[in-house]
Amino acid sequence: MIRTIVGANWGDEGKGKITDVLAETSDIVVRFQGGANAGHTIINDYGKFALHLLPSGVFHQHIANVIGPGVALDIEKLLAELDGLVSQGIPKPTIYISDRAQVMLPYHVDFDRYEEERLGKSGFGSTKSGIAPFYGDKYLKIGLQVCQLYDEEILLNRLTSAVTQKNVLLENLYYKPAIQIKPLMKHLQELGQRIRPMVIDTTVFLHKALKEGKTVLLEGQLGSLRDPDHGIYPYTTSSSPLAGFGTVGAGVPASAIRDVFCVTKAYSSCVGAGPFTTELFGQEAEELRKRGGDAGEYGATTGRPRRVGWFDAVATRYGCMVQGGTEAILTNLDVLGYLPEVPVCVAYEVDGKQIRDFPSTPTLLRCKPVYVNLPGWMTDIRGVTDWDALPVNCRKYIEFVEKELDVPIHMISTGPKRADMVYRA
Ligand code: GDP
Repeated sequence: MIRTIVGANWGDEGKGKITDVLAETSDIVVRFQGGANAGHTIINDYGKFALHLLPSGVFHQHIANVIGPGVALDIEKLLAELDGLVSQGIPKPTIYISDRAQVMLPYHVDFDRYEEERLGKSGFGSTKSGIAPFYGDKYLKIGLQVCQLYDEEILLNRLTSAVTQKNVLLENLYYKPAIQIKPLMKHLQELGQRIRPMVIDTTVFLHKALKEGKTVLLEGQLGSLRDPDHGIYPYTTSSSPLAGFGTVGAGVPASAIRDVFCVTKAYSSCVGAGPFTTELFGQEAEELRKRGGDAGEYGATTGRPRRVGWFDAVATRYGCMVQGGTEAILTNLDVLGYLPEVPVCVAYEVDGKQIRDFPSTPTLLRCKPVYVNLPGWMTDIRGVTDWDALPVNCRKYIEFVEKELDVPIHMISTGPKRADMVYRA
């Protein structure tokens, strides 16, 4: 049986915490797309951790953590993250890397940076982790699979054909030094040896596990609105963060997916560029940013201040819909306890009309939010675990959001810690 945890919005919805919670009752946790470009913040009995590439099951000894073929595997970052965990006292987790996963190459990271520099103000707010060049190369078929690291002839051929193109661009578009194949090859072979004990055919492993009745958790990165097809293109990421892509990026049968948990914050936050209809500015934004998350709304990977805004039911309903959400999980609800009134965006106004369906990007850029103001609860609910212990107005807020989203909400996060959860019947 498969459960997926995915983001309903722009990323940073609090998926890491929820995965850590649901991992307890899973046998396998799989990352199926993206790379080290986003981060999950997890706070548990061991302390506080920012995970970038490692699946969130690494804190549980009984879990096998899988890096699926759809992931952008930055080997050095993965190994550094693993060393970091072990040095903080976490018992060494079980990790399997797909032999078909592709390898983030040092020049992908360079190209990402050069391109953002070249674009200047019209850039896409890239985290400069190499993600777009990596996936570009994958689909141009000049990427490199993990299994290819172990065959010298294949590796040399692959690198030679890719680097020939890259050097033309480096020389003529970016005016940067050319890539030398020999040292790159040696570096990659060394990295390949370091991960070799973890490399397996994860697709066969997962299919077998499912046949044996194991519970698999697919862990999405970013969120619906960053999907290259269904999101706010071109302000998207380069791999699909949708639960449906989990079948491809992890290598599991679509028919085995039972639950699609869409995580969403009780307000909105967004890192990077692109339209963000309910965005707040000035004092109002500063107040929410300061109070948000476990230590303010600042990116787990980049440290960048996140853009913040009120809850956007139009974007989130769409986000849950394209995920095929079976339920929504509301996080960071405790953050809103300071507000006498809590605005919720229920429609957009564009060209003199109100719309409730999330539009494509050019229209979205012209949309203005239409708010309903709900009464606040003016109480600190951090750590509350009982539905009945939530203030009436807080429960009404959840019920209102649930109705707007058209998916049930059974789990509500009332703080960053593992135990800060309300389970509602
Ligand atoms: P992810 O990428 O979706 O895992 O999200 P991030 O970890 O980047 O961002 C979520 C932030 O919210 C982190 O700082 C979490 O520690 C924090 N967080 C998660 N759930 C809650 C919650 O219910 N309340 C509060 N105050 N913080 C939370």
